[in-house]
Amino acid sequence: QTIHVLLICGGGGSEHDVSLRTADFIQRELAKSPTVQLTRVTMDGDGRFVDENDQVRELRSDKLLYSASGGNSGSAQPVDYVIPAIHGYPGETGDLQSQLEILGLPYFGCGPEASKVCFNKITTKLWLTALGIDNTPYQFLCADNADEAAKAQDALKQWGSVFVKASNQGSSVGCYKVSDPEALDGALREAFKLSPYVLVEKCLKVRELEVAAYLYDGELVVTPPGEVCAPEDTFYSYEEKYAEASRARTHVVAEGLSDAQLGWIREASKRAFVGLQLKDLSRIDFFLTDDGEIYLNEVNTFPGMTSISMFPKMLQNQGHDFSSYLGALIHSAVS
Ligand code: ATP
Ligand code: MG
Ligand code: MG
Ligand code: MG
Repeated sequence: QTIHVLLICGGGGSEHDVSLRTADFIQRELAKSPTVQLTRVTMDGDGRFVDENDQVRELRSDKLLYSASGGNSGSAQPVDYVIPAIHGYPGETGDLQSQLEILGLPYFGCGPEASKVCFNKITTKLWLTALGIDNTPYQFLCADNADEAAKAQDALKQWGSVFVKASNQGSSVGCYKVSDPEALDGALREAFKLSPYVLVEKCLKVRELEVAAYLYDGELVVTPPGEVCAPEDTFYSYEEKYAEASRARTHVVAEGLSDAQLGWIREASKRAFVGLQLKDLSRIDFFLTDDGEIYLNEVNTFPGMTSISMFPKMLQNQGHDFSSYLGALIHSAVS
């Protein structure tokens, strides 16, 4: 039996190009599955689905993918399962998943509500605190309030250096490290261009740890943490993540963590996955300070899956080859 899978990538957000690379990876992996027949569409800036022959396609309530130029249901293609491979709006934000719920189509990844909560760094933190999970200290700024600049300056004075972050981005877009008070206003201006809400976080002198938390055969798997090492003079910025000349290094398994630290990260990851009602996959990021404190930084409901990305590597290291993992999810969702 052939399963018709629709892979949707692109999207209107700042991570459009990253999404194309994630989709390349997923497409390559699913090509190993003889029962999967994949159609790939790229969402353009106007929200249209454009297929690999540059034709505009439309997904309708009869679960058929039409050519937008017309055609009857005889020429339309069935869709059994959808992979919304969009980082940021409107995929990782949960908007596309809402539509898929309405259409009654099974899909890869978290539902609309969990996606929405986790993509916004402020709602994530409110939830993490409610779930009793330590997360990076921060101040919350809203574009509508007066005196937000003063509040940010106070935070900087208190913490020495800070991260200014737009609340609703990924791939480090809208993320600025600030130690100089004179640079703060500029960073706030840039962050507010991307979002009406901005976080000013305490900059932690850190090791950066990441786990993959995902469902395999219906069981929650949390991998041991991997580690990201950004160069000393910067942080894990967009360039360090994706540029050819990146100097960042990743280790699939972080070294030298105590059993207590490993246990804490594992428990916090499980609690976050279950408490936030995640589905299928996530990459959860932590900071470990020089004092041995651990904070959960963020929950990514649709982490990067480029050939250099941590998520597929961590699965692989767990003995879970990506194509069989996704293939099994697809088969169980449509059977
Ligand atoms: P992702 O691509 O993982 O979705 P993102 O855009 O959601 O990234 P964060 O992970 O919150 O953003 O931050 C990006 C990077 O900035 C981190 O990987 C880290 O290198 C650095 N960073 C962010 N917050 C802090 C902090 N409070 N202290 C130290 N470094 C930080
Ligand atoms: Mg993120
Ligand atoms: Mg992200
Ligand atoms: Mg991150």
